[in-house]
Amino acid sequence: MSFQSEGDKNIDGTDDLHRFVLKFRPTIIIIQAIFGLVFVALRIWPLAALFMLVAILHFYMMRWDDRHANQLVNSSPWMWVLYLLQLLFSVVLIGPAPGFQYYMIATIPALFSSTQWPLSAKIFQTIVIALFYIACDVILTTWTPIYPLPLHTAELLRNVNIIGTCATTAVVSYMLSCTVKQAEQRLKSLAATDALTGLLNRRRMTESIEKEYAHTRRVFRPLALIICDIDRFKSINDRYGHDGGDRVLREVGKLFRSLRDYDSVARWGGEEFIVLLPDADLGIAMNVAERLRTGVAESVIAINDTPVPVTMTFGVAQIHPGETWQSALARADQALYRGKEGGRNRVVLSS
Ligand code: GH3
Ligand code: MG
Ligand code: MG
Repeated sequence: MSFQSEGDKNIDGTDDLHRFVLKFRPTIIIIQAIFGLVFVALRIWPLAALFMLVAILHFYMMRWDDRHANQLVNSSPWMWVLYLLQLLFSVVLIGPAPGFQYYMIATIPALFSSTQWPLSAKIFQTIVIALFYIACDVILTTWTPIYPLPLHTAELLRNVNIIGTCATTAVVSYMLSCTVKQAEQRLKSLAATDALTGLLNRRRMTESIEKEYAHTRRVFRPLALIICDIDRFKSINDRYGHDGGDRVLREVGKLFRSLRDYDSVARWGGEEFIVLLPDADLGIAMNVAERLRTGVAESVIAINDTPVPVTMTFGVAQIHPGETWQSALARADQALYRGKEGGRNRVVLSS
């Protein structure tokens, strides 16, 4: 059965991006620690200490995020400043030849996709990156670094850093594309969902009926519709308030999810629901409606610990050959009306 799940309300991609960054934190810690060890081996103690410190900082931030999973603080803008200072410090100490400055390029895609800073700040940051590179060029030609590396070590590190920069840019871009895809999915699901019950909404159900109707006509398969309505819902609202009424709607929505996988169910409006049953003739649809009717009537829906008896009336129609779905739905609606007239809590067929 198709319905959309409740509770997935986040449509802001930034949170997703941040979550992705969190997933990569162990990798960042390992890489920073490896570089720390490399600088230990090269006996460049200030850089060894700096890379180790950044690794430890990431470790503590990871633990903080684990403990405060519900209050994610987007630290990425400050991480950017930290990286810039770290790489600047590296260039000042060992020069630009080992290529640590390349990593700043990898931050540009993430920078521009973040909603944490305004566009002007992002442009400013990009200019800072460009100036950083120009400064590195100037340093390369005019300045001897404090800890000059042997040529082959600098070359090896540069190659590693070129590969690292490409890999980081690829990973960041991939993370961004996943974030966009997830946000798109979430928006699609929100656009198709009734917020109260989590069932399909009227617009999405209309699309489903039209699609199924076109398919059924091509393959000469039966197609049936059920329209149903909660009995005397107004008196539930009057007695238990609008919130009480909403609770009943949610509970009915839950009960309707027990349908077959390929059936669709939607909240059509107010306290009215529609079930679309592909490959079902009138007899099958009647059985489904009867099952739903008894399910609702026998369920115990409690509002403030008071059990509220709830019943529903059902109108069922199978779409005749050559008939439009709107006409079949109108017949089902008339059957529902007859059910209300006849005393409610019943299934009425339109043949
Ligand atoms: P019947 O058995 O003939 O269907 O009677 P009824 O009282 O269910 O029908 P009626 O159309 O008179 O009342 C439907 C009520 O449903 C009126 C409206 O305020 C209420 N309603 C519509 N949408 C919502 C909603 O989203 N939440 C709540 N709590 N009530 C709603
Ligand atoms: Mg009603
Ligand atoms: Mg109604």
